[in-house]
Amino acid sequence: MEKAIKRAQVLIEALPYIREFFGKTIVIKLGGQAMEKGGITRSIAEDIVLMRYVGIKPVVVHGGGEAISGLMQKLGIKPKFIEGNRVTDKATMEVVEMVLAGKINKEIVALLNSCGGKAVGVEGKDGKLIVAKKISEEKLGLVGEVEKINPEILEILEKEGFIPVIAPVGTSKEDESLNINADAVAAEVAGALKAEKLIFLTDVEGILEDPSRPETLIPTITIEKIKRMLQEGKIQKGMIAKVKACQKALEKGVKKVHIISGKIPRSLLLEIFTDSGIGTQIIP
Ligand code: ADP
Ligand code: MG
Repeated sequence: MEKAIKRAQVLIEALPYIREFFGKTIVIKLGGQAMEKGGITRSIAEDIVLMRYVGIKPVVVHGGGEAISGLMQKLGIKPKFIEGNRVTDKATMEVVEMVLAGKINKEIVALLNSCGGKAVGVEGKDGKLIVAKKISEEKLGLVGEVEKINPEILEILEKEGFIPVIAPVGTSKEDESLNINADAVAAEVAGALKAEKLIFLTDVEGILEDPSRPETLIPTITIEKIKRMLQEGKIQKGMIAKVKACQKALEKGVKKVHIISGKIPRSLLLEIFTDSGIGTQIIP
């Protein structure tokens, strides 16, 4: 009995947060460890489905770098990167789209469904969701940046209770597929939907003063300080695209942006339904 009372108590403690976020959109970017071996872990899927059942509208955006390199290796295509961007020729783009929109996207959709959610996978071409243009055809080939988000398809899905799952493949004005950084897509989608929150689930606890020391986590950081850290070379690799995406999202009117670990059990629920706050919160 005591145990049951405790459980009821825990539920009621979430009431202020459920009230605050009821009917609001929260965009979740899944990357790194959130996607164990190319898939998403079950506990994260459960958290997302729970959000939906208490009236929050989650929208999922996923990456998939490792799985793409894996299949390319099997096909004998050598991955090439310039400043963190995958150089994408036509053959590579086919693999990128197959893995992102075909394999990973459908794995995430299936897992959300098996946890009791109603998930639908989309990519840039669906409803012209992500219109993109090439960054530099000469240097990077079919790598794009977002030109415009057409959020109608997401709004229709959200309204009917579905959880949209977005693969970061854009479509150009000439209907070519373009490979886009998933962090950037998450920021643009969150901006277009006027999301209440954008949460990046990644493989580190947040932004670290020293990436090799987890105890140097920065709980709250300003864009100003991020710029300084970038200049000092303290933010590197995949974190560069992520902090730039955070800045973009805030500029586009997203209220709160967080970078948290996908490795901490129930990190999404901790972030949304408690005031203990985890990871790094980015403020303007
Ligand atoms: P994701 O798959 O979630 O997009 P990335 O690998 O692209 O993850 O980016 C996260 C990585 O960024 C971390 O694993 C870490 O190695 C690196 N990183 C570089 N600088 C920092 C920093 N200052 N704080 C935290 N992580 C950093
Ligand atoms: Mg990344």
